[in-house]
Amino acid sequence: MSFDTIIQRLFLEIKKIEDTGEIASYIPELQNIDTNKFGIYIASTNNSNYGVGDYAEKFSIQSISKVLSLSLAYNILGETIWNRLGVEPSGTSYNSLIQLETDKGIPRNPFINAGAIVIADILLSKLKYPKEDFLSFIRNLSGSEKINYSSKIATSEKSVGYRNIALCNFIKSFNNIQNAPSEVLDFYFDICSLEMSAKELSNTFLFLANKGINPHTNNQVLTQSQSKRINALMQTCGFYDESGEFAFKVGLPGKSGVGGGIVAVHPGHYAITVWSPKLNKKGNSFKGIQFLEKFTTASKLSIF
Ligand code: GLN
Repeated sequence: MSFDTIIQRLFLEIKKIEDTGEIASYIPELQNIDTNKFGIYIASTNNSNYGVGDYAEKFSIQSISKVLSLSLAYNILGETIWNRLGVEPSGTSYNSLIQLETDKGIPRNPFINAGAIVIADILLSKLKYPKEDFLSFIRNLSGSEKINYSSKIATSEKSVGYRNIALCNFIKSFNNIQNAPSEVLDFYFDICSLEMSAKELSNTFLFLANKGINPHTNNQVLTQSQSKRINALMQTCGFYDESGEFAFKVGLPGKSGVGGGIVAVHPGHYAITVWSPKLNKKGNSFKGIQFLEKFTTASKLSIF
């Protein structure tokens, strides 16, 4: 059976099930979304692409952007990046402060908020025009100029960003933030506010299925080893304290965001994005995880 047939069938099947998840209401602006939105898009390395439902509609990618900010920082710093943060799953929620005290301000990994805040600090130090340069990196990866930040979402998150403000200041007290916390946080909120469709996200993540090479430009974004390592981190840390369960159920590296998006990558084959806004208790898309579990089961393809 082809991917298209499986995706179409599972889309209809999962659309019908009762969604017991909840929208991420802690960011006020995210509450305005229609919770019935559901879209899927697969982009393959052999150029066969397919979308169903609301796959062309933009949504807030939130923490999915953590993979992209890490990719740019990794490209700039190389392996010395790991002096500033770890590569171990945290087993805690995305916004947890708990381990930072004992770990002396070194975040467990780049995909929890603490780690992504350190990455934002690195980019702020290394890029001449951080906001513009990061956006052009993303546009280049996606092959689309129509990608932007949402100032509405960034402002909304900033207005209630108490935990992230605490995280950034706490890490700074251990000297692992070099810039002013207010500047680091503004950039972090901007990065989280990027809006993309499922189609744009799958196209953007295709370089991780393609040995680190941007398939739209043939440019080597990351070395093959770096690309492998980012996939390994997505596998072990992409879903916070649900990462083990995602590996168990889906068997692919992936990354979620509180906007309800999930991107999963099958190295050598494809990148697939599912968007459904309501989240389970761990902050990951309720229907997104169910769809991907059934997709890798039906297609009989995973990295394991
Ligand atoms: N911007 C969100 C936050 O910092 C991102 C969280 C997420 O998507 N898991 O809380």
